[in-house]
Parts: sequence; C-alpha cells; structure tokens
Amino acid sequence: ATMPPLLAAVAVAGRRGTLVKDVTVIEALADIDTVALDKTGTLTTGRPQVTSITALGSADRDAALVIAAAAEAGSEHALGQAVRRHAVAVGLDMRSAQEFTAVPGEGVRARVDGSEVLVGRPQLLAKPDPDIDAMVAQLQDDGHTAVLVIIDGEAAALVGLSDKPRPGAADAVRALGQEIGTEPEILTGDAARPAAVLADQVGVHRVHADLLPADKVAVIRRHQSSGRRVLAVGDGLNDSPLLVAADVGLVVGDAAGGGAGALTVQAADGVLTRDPLGALAPLVTLARRARRIAR
Ligand code: ADP
Ligand code: MG
Repeated sequence: ATMPPLLAAVAVAGRRGTLVKDVTVIEALADIDTVALDKTGTLTTGRPQVTSITALGSADRDAALVIAAAAEAGSEHALGQAVRRHAVAVGLDMRSAQEFTAVPGEGVRARVDGSEVLVGRPQLLAKPDPDIDAMVAQLQDDGHTAVLVIIDGEAAALVGLSDKPRPGAADAVRALGQEIGTEPEILTGDAARPAAVLADQVGVHRVHADLLPADKVAVIRRHQSSGRRVLAVGDGLNDSPLLVAADVGLVVGDAAGGGAGALTVQAADGVLTRDPLGALAPLVTLARRARRIAR
C-alpha cells in the first residue's frame, strides 16, 4: 500500500531534518503566506560575542563583568551565555548569584553579594541618563546589541555584543521570496538599528523591533486578523508564545537540546534540526505539493 500524501510529506520532511508533529502541520504549512523570523538564535548563529564593555559611573569594569556573569549564570539566553563565556575568557573568577529570575525579552534579575542586579535591555534603567542613551545609540548604530548592567539601580557597565547571520541566511530569505512568494519579516526584542543592520545583511526589508514577547504575539495576531497564515520560527524559551500564536510554529533544533529548550519544543509544531533557515522554502513547497495530491 502507498502512504497517504500528507503522511508521506511528514516522512520526507523528517528525512530532510524537519520533524513535524503530525499531518495537520503539513496541511497548515500548505496555507502559509507569511513568514516571521526571530532574530537572535534564529536568523543569527546564536553565539554572539562580547565586543565592548564600558564601565559607567564609579563602577569598575571587571567587577561589573563578574557580577553580570554571576547574574547570567542561570540564563539559557544566547546573550547571557555570551557574557558568561567572556568573563571566563578574560580569566575572571565566577561568583554565585541568588534569587535568579529571567525576564523574557528583557534580561535577567538576580542578587549577587547582597546587591540587586539587572542585566538586560537598556530600557531596564529606571532613571533616564542622556549620556548613557548616547552611548547606547552609538553601539546600536554600529549594529551591536546593547546590554546594561545595573547594580542597585545604578548603571554599572554597558556591554556591546554582536552576532553573525547564520550561514546561508540570505539564500534562505531569497528562496522564500522566489519559491513561496513571501519575503520573511524579522520580529525582535532587540533595538531597531541592530535589527536593521542584520536585515540588510540577509536581505529582509520588514523589521519589527523593540518587541516584548507579548508584542511579538500581537504582530502575529494582526496578520491573522487580516486573513494571513503565519509561519513563525524561533529559538529559546521566550519564543514559546510566538510559536503557539502562529499557524505553524517551528523551533530551531540547535536550541532544542536542553531543559528550557524542551519546553519550547512542546510549544512548537515541529523542530528544524538541520539548516533551519534553508529548510523553510522546501518545506512549504513540499506541503503544498502534498496537499495538492491529497485533494
Ligand atoms: P530576540 O527577539 O532578538 O531573540 P530577545 O527578545 O530574547 O531578543 O531579547 C530582547 C533584548 O532583551 C535583547 O536584545 C537584550 O537587550 C535583552 N535581553 C534578553 N535576555 C537577556 C539576557 N539574558 N542578558 C542580557 N540581555 C538580555
Ligand atoms: Mg530569540
């Protein structure tokens, strides 16, 4: 007996490295006309590098880095891991933190040596500071992600990070346009400038930046309420709401290994274990063909 076409498509997708949960995902994929991609860890490699650390106020640079790395100890976020790697690479001793909480799309909060520490997006600083704003803008204009280290309410350091596009990202974007007829858009919690720099590198023209996880969901809902069918691709725990809201939500497999990653996989309709961006256009084409045959 021959396999029904939708089921066969599940098998073919699986052989190509995309594990979809069942045939309903293939049906939904066949209807996709909009593709939304998360930036960090999806369009980028997810291994950002610390490019600069600037001490602020009276803070010491290395002391601030040690405290930031301690606060990030429990973070599975690519930026948190980059801060930790950097502290180790420059030979600083690791300190421990208490009361760790991740604030999705914003950063982390923890207690280190009795101090309340925040590491994350510059908007976390409660009191406005034009000098810091100018330094943040400068970093972002150069395409870097800006992260502030805030100790007991005071800005202690500004960290610049930069990540590269995934290999083949530009080709994957082009294929979505040519084969599927839709140019992907970027959804990111990062600022507009670094997002625009990356968009330029991979050939994307639509960017939604400065989004909290709930804002990403709102963008998806807006598309859906104008009749569009959205495929969303993300990584990491804070993308779960996005993946659930989308008509099809796929998670990149290199983020799907560990504990938090497993939760994201549960929220997703499938896992992209190989060439996650390059797999997208062929996957939608496969689904469209399968459904045409099935009908
Ligand atoms: P993206 O949408 O690009 O994947 P996120 O929504 O995960 O980005 O994060 C948005 C912003 O929040 C980051 O650009 C960064 O400024 C900040 N942020 C989030 N998590 C962390 C963290 N663990 N450490 C430092 N900054 C973080
Ligand atoms: Mg992300």
